[in-house]
Amino acid sequence: MSGEKKLKIKLKKKEGAPSAATTEGNELFKLLSKIAKLLDGVDSLRGVEIEAEEIVLEGVMLPTDLLAGALRQATAAPAAAEAVAPPKPTELESFKFEKPVRSYVGKFEEVKIGATAEEGGSRAFTLTIGGSETPAMHAFEGRLPHRPVVAYLVFDEDPGLPETLLEYYGDVKDDPVAWAKKCVEEFGAKMIFLDLRSTDPHGTNRSAEDAAKTVKAVLEAVSVPLAICVRSGDMKKDVEVLKRAAEVAAGENVILYCGSLTLPAILAAGEALADEIYEYFKAAKEHGHVVVAYQPLNLPGIAVLNKAAMEHGVPKSKILIDPGSVAVGYAVEMAISAMDAIYNKALVGDESYQMPLMYIPANAWMYRESYDDVEEWGDTEQRGHAWEIGTAMAALMSGAHLLVMLDPYAIDAVENFLDRLYLPKIESVEGLLRHLPGSNCKACGFETCKELADAVLKGETDVDKCQRLGDAGKRAVKKLLSPPSPPVVESEEIASWIKELP
Ligand code: SF4
Repeated sequence: MSGEKKLKIKLKKKEGAPSAATTEGNELFKLLSKIAKLLDGVDSLRGVEIEAEEIVLEGVMLPTDLLAGALRQATAAPAAAEAVAPPKPTELESFKFEKPVRSYVGKFEEVKIGATAEEGGSRAFTLTIGGSETPAMHAFEGRLPHRPVVAYLVFDEDPGLPETLLEYYGDVKDDPVAWAKKCVEEFGAKMIFLDLRSTDPHGTNRSAEDAAKTVKAVLEAVSVPLAICVRSGDMKKDVEVLKRAAEVAAGENVILYCGSLTLPAILAAGEALADEIYEYFKAAKEHGHVVVAYQPLNLPGIAVLNKAAMEHGVPKSKILIDPGSVAVGYAVEMAISAMDAIYNKALVGDESYQMPLMYIPANAWMYRESYDDVEEWGDTEQRGHAWEIGTAMAALMSGAHLLVMLDPYAIDAVENFLDRLYLPKIESVEGLLRHLPGSNCKACGFETCKELADAVLKGETDVDKCQRLGDAGKRAVKKLLSPPSPPVVESEEIASWIKELP
């Protein structure tokens, strides 16, 4: 922009031109004179290259209607600027607030996990997820009948746990049975998600038969509902492992999670899928288990898997969706956008997406930001906890019905949050039983966990009597027997905040 030339505006009436006899003509002349005064001597205007030293308007003819509009705007502006600001409010104005309540035509399916002895399994209790009839966190609008479940992730071989997690699992990292027991008895886990990573053909490559033995041993060691997971990327091996695991867990209604289901790059209508996918559905159907439509950020792929599962005899009430569980900082926004889209489709009645959503926030520990000791990133331990908590919260806000987590500290934080939302006061023996180890070891002096639960609810004893439930589990049960009330903010307090506003 040039700064050398000064702008000069002169207004002349051309010799012999008609005089500005009309009102608009006179007003235009006055306005242009004002502009000329303002701009006289200005040497730069943003976006305007000034080259002339003189602008001469001679005998200009303008349509009077346009001119009149422009004049009104120009002359109104100063008046608005001079308007007096409204007085600052000093007290609350009362008004009636109507909640913007909507209703939806669709709802999520309810999926039960686990089976008790009466149902053909050996679990101490079952868990039900899904059933949502309104968006996540919109309890004011409709039913969110089931509190989201947090499952503890247990590996069948040490995945190379970072320091932060070794503090919790260092003593059990090479023994999946001891690891699962510790989660249930010490941390109060209500579900175990067993990752059979040792079967990865690119790693230890243990056989399907070996993996089946691990599944059986974990089922015998703990009585909470179970999920069995393979995600080596090799669909053939993963499905082989799941088929054998499905057999040994027959009747237990476990989740069979396969993270390697591969679909054709282009999904043509009616095209057959890989044989392994149908074998996976068949194993679940024959032995009464739950399958997962896992396709990262691929909504059409999820719908294809759901449809194929139902066509092959897996009921809608035995299917979950995993839209791709990535961590904060690694495109979590894309994963939760996919979840939002699925949730919306489900609520507007699209049956291809009405299966409950699961998410694996434990994947946060796969990324170096959660464990690398880098000074400028702050405290490593707190950062690791925060990475998994942040990922879990993002998934919960988008409607996850089942979370799979690893860090007991992070799980405690998420469960505390859920306590506030769901206030799940324990009022029945069945409700309390869900939080006890379920091993009927008699160490508390009662014959069964159920008898202890009954006595606790009658006020005859307390949950500290249980010799197998850890401190965190006991704390959680006590809180659920007498849950905290939601915080109440008095209107006087809000009024005082308003007075302090600048
Ligand atoms: S101590 Fe009692 S409540 Fe605890 S696991 Fe044993 S039988 Fe059940």
